[in-house]
Amino acid sequence: MKLIIANWKNNFSLRDSLVLAKNYAKVFKGNKGSVVACPNAVALVGVKKILGSVVKLGAQDVGAQERGAHTGDIDVKTLVEAGCSYVIIGHSERRAQGESSAQINLKLKAILKATKLTPVICVGESWSQYQAKKSKAFVAGQIKQTLAGINLGTRQIIIAYEPIWAIGTGKAMQADEAQIMHAFVKAEAKKVLGSSARLIVIYGGSVNDLNARAYLLKSDIDGLLVGGASLKIQEFKKIANIS
Ligand code: PEP
Repeated sequence: MKLIIANWKNNFSLRDSLVLAKNYAKVFKGNKGSVVACPNAVALVGVKKILGSVVKLGAQDVGAQERGAHTGDIDVKTLVEAGCSYVIIGHSERRAQGESSAQINLKLKAILKATKLTPVICVGESWSQYQAKKSKAFVAGQIKQTLAGINLGTRQIIIAYEPIWAIGTGKAMQADEAQIMHAFVKAEAKKVLGSSARLIVIYGGSVNDLNARAYLLKSDIDGLLVGGASLKIQEFKKIANIS
């Protein structure tokens, strides 16, 4: 079963997030746990109450430091307390605000100290890098820096390969090309983590109900990270039901 992660970003008010959560709970009742919803931080607790275990809960970011005097941060343990099973780190919208792979590496280390949280690490190239055929070199660098010094043991990590130019643009990467990139991402990550690392690699970037199947049929694409289409319950239901 492939993993489908919904990134609601900061698109909804608290009230609208709870309404969407109720729709998820209705639509995915009896689901076998392959759907994850990531509301904004304020909505986490309320959404968890509605979703229970029907849909897993994910956060959109985390602070690298432990609980303490870090204004504006939310630490790993608090996310676990709120009911999160997953946390996205290094989304391109955060990297665009100056977050570096070195900072994401610290967040990853903090997450791996907690036993119950699985990181979803985002990587991906810009349009100019893609056009210059530098996607592989750039993404390999992001992977190397983000995973530096990580010993996974038996823990699992998820890497979301999201070409930046495909996020929210309606210009998705072709599935054949995405398959090649996913195989590459897996190979690069295993160079750092070791060949037995428990690794899931998922695609993100303008996924919709019409193109989702093509990705999910590919052997190295283990799931999807869905932004815009995850806000429309009927469309998202179609995507999640393919997996
Ligand atoms: C995302 O932000 O992670 C994403 C994939 O967004 P969208 O599906 O809207 O392109």
